[in-house]
Amino acid sequence: MKERIYSIPLTDALNADCGCVMCALEEKLENDAVEYFMGASKMEPEIRIMTNKKGFCRRHLHMMEAAGSPLGLALMLDTHLEELRARLEKKGGRGGLFAAKKNAEAICAELEKIIDGCAVCDKLNGHVFDAAANLVYLWDKEPDFREKLGNSRGLCLPHTLLVLRAAGTELSGKRLDEFVDFIVTAQSEGLEELNGDVNWFTRKFDFNNRDADWKNSKDAVPRAVNKLVKF
Ligand SMILES: [Zn+2]
Ligand SMILES: [Zn+2]
Repeated sequence: MKERIYSIPLTDALNADCGCVMCALEEKLENDAVEYFMGASKMEPEIRIMTNKKGFCRRHLHMMEAAGSPLGLALMLDTHLEELRARLEKKGGRGGLFAAKKNAEAICAELEKIIDGCAVCDKLNGHVFDAAANLVYLWDKEPDFREKLGNSRGLCLPHTLLVLRAAGTELSGKRLDEFVDFIVTAQSEGLEELNGDVNWFTRKFDFNNRDADWKNSKDAVPRAVNKLVKF
């Protein structure tokens, strides 16, 4: 039996009508994950071995920088930089024509690994996937949740992809078909309405429409941005 620890926050986010429910939850989980690494865990040896190896991505480094604890971040960065230097030095051999090219490629590959790695992303992604699976579970078991989700402003595109992926781990056969239909229909309707609003927004700049009503298009651009990307 899987734990359904995200049922309450998902239901709360849906009742608060805050746009994509998964965005609302992921934003909270992301702050929790940043706090986790900035907190006591950074002094635990096994956590430090992991953060030394993986490092942090651009987004999460900036979040940790903004968390207002320069010493906490410095402690982690100190040992991470030490490990990073050792990893680059190991690739530093020199040689003839072919060896030089191989050496340059090895350094690029190692740098790519360092840049792509992030301890926060890895921790967060697992939790967010579990939350998406929990959303599918609530859709399956709670008619009230399903109805409210259908009447909500829907999910952003990245979370649509995630819940469809998670659905494959929760449902099968006819029920999976029903869920996919539910999500795709809701997204198609939502996108049609949004597209209409963005279209009317552009036409309002036509001189002939200067006195026409804005209808529902005044905030169409931020709504479109929130639909296309995560919070
Ligand atoms: Zn979202
Ligand atoms: Zn990250």
